[in-house]
Amino acid sequence: MNKRVVIVGASHAGAQLASSLRQEGWQGEILMIGEESFAPYQRPPLSKEYLRGEKNADELLIRPAEMYIRHGVELLPGRCVRTVDRTAKRVLMEDGESFDYHKLALCTGARVRQLEVPGADLPGVHYLRTLADVDAIRTRLVPGCRVVIVGGGYIGLESAAALRKCGVEVSVLEVQSRLLARVTAPQVSAFYQRIHAEAGVVIHTGWSVVAIEGEDRVTGVVGADGRRLPADMVIVGIGVIPNVELASQCGLKVDNGIWVDEFASTDDPDIYAAGDCTNHPNRLLGRRVRLESVPNAMEQAKLAAASICGRQQCYDAYPWFWSDQYDLKLQIAGLSEGYDRVILRGDADVGRSFVAWYLCGDKLLAADCINRPKEFMVAKQLLVGALPVSVERLADESLDPKLILKI
Ligand SMILES: Cc1cc2nc3c(=O)[nH]c(=O)nc-3n(C[C@H](O)[C@H](O)[C@H](O)COP(=O)(O)OP(=O)(O)OC[C@H]3O[C@@H](n4cnc5c(N)ncnc54)[C@H](O)[C@@H]3O)c2cc1C
Repeated sequence: MNKRVVIVGASHAGAQLASSLRQEGWQGEILMIGEESFAPYQRPPLSKEYLRGEKNADELLIRPAEMYIRHGVELLPGRCVRTVDRTAKRVLMEDGESFDYHKLALCTGARVRQLEVPGADLPGVHYLRTLADVDAIRTRLVPGCRVVIVGGGYIGLESAAALRKCGVEVSVLEVQSRLLARVTAPQVSAFYQRIHAEAGVVIHTGWSVVAIEGEDRVTGVVGADGRRLPADMVIVGIGVIPNVELASQCGLKVDNGIWVDEFASTDDPDIYAAGDCTNHPNRLLGRRVRLESVPNAMEQAKLAAASICGRQQCYDAYPWFWSDQYDLKLQIAGLSEGYDRVILRGDADVGRSFVAWYLCGDKLLAADCINRPKEFMVAKQLLVGALPVSVERLADESLDPKLILKI
């Protein structure tokens, strides 16, 4: 057999891995297998421009279709890998076909967490992970229809913002006492609650959904306290679960993601993994993490490609994320988990631009930068350099952001 890399999963990580393999000089075959029936496309616009109808599916493609042909990447969309035979070094497809591999890359990503309440399978209850999911939502959207979003995290809030622009009525139900509770400080939650309320989104916090009502289609949502909200459509955004079943089935180590080292290698030297499905060490953070972000999927895929080509390169990136809602660009540097105080730069109670710096002692852990690109760059530099911070400078609005770096 000509040497072949088989990539399972054709999304951000898979597409990056395929092109990085060629950049790294891989001369053998590359076969990329993806369950969805599209060439790899960008997921972030799904809850933003694509949901608003401002981009079409072709504009979401990560690479033009010719690129795969030009680089000799054979793409098999709409096909699912069922098992991996590590002894034979072969993947077995759901339709019975099989492909041998020299090296295997698992880029299987994540799938939505399902809402497990009576009525959750009624027509009109949607999730938002794939292009097909959004197409199904969009065909049912008519001005004035009532959409209830279950989950006040980033996906739920981005969808709420997009849907308001489409002229529909939107309510957001969040089980916690505040929006974005898992990932942001109370000041940031309060800011987004205000912004969404100003845009006409009705937000209910502390609201636990116990049932979805309807005969042939959804007509409403029932809360734990018996309250009912009428709905023509329900969109559920309550998190994702990593797709680790292939890895578990073939005996690879799995623990909140496929266990890889800093070179994106699993405990089988011929199998690599990248993206949302992995649990990997991050030296800068000093611990293992499973991240759900495009930058992570791409960086890890580059490492996996380098490792496959025999050039080991360590994963040394600080996590960063973004979220777009209305005219607000939130850029997040670092992970805020474990913070003991928050310093604000700018006023979160009025206006639409400020920074929340997350500190543990004197150490900066993360920054949420809302319409503050300069501070975002500064935050990244502070984090990567593990530079000392001055609380006065972080908070001082009159100071040029670049001078925050000068102690
Ligand atoms: C609506 C939305 C908005 C987002 N917005 C942002 C954002 O603003 N910024 C950001 O950084 N991130 C954002 N994300 C997260 C980001 O999209 C993910 O982190 C990224 O897609 C991860 O890429 P991945 O390749 O690891 O996995 P995925 O994108 O999950 O792709 C994995 C692919 O593998 C396929 N697959 C799985 N198992 C098999 C199998 N056995 N056989 C064949 N194929 C298989 C799946 O069908 C899927 O197509 C958003 C996600 C969503 C859903």
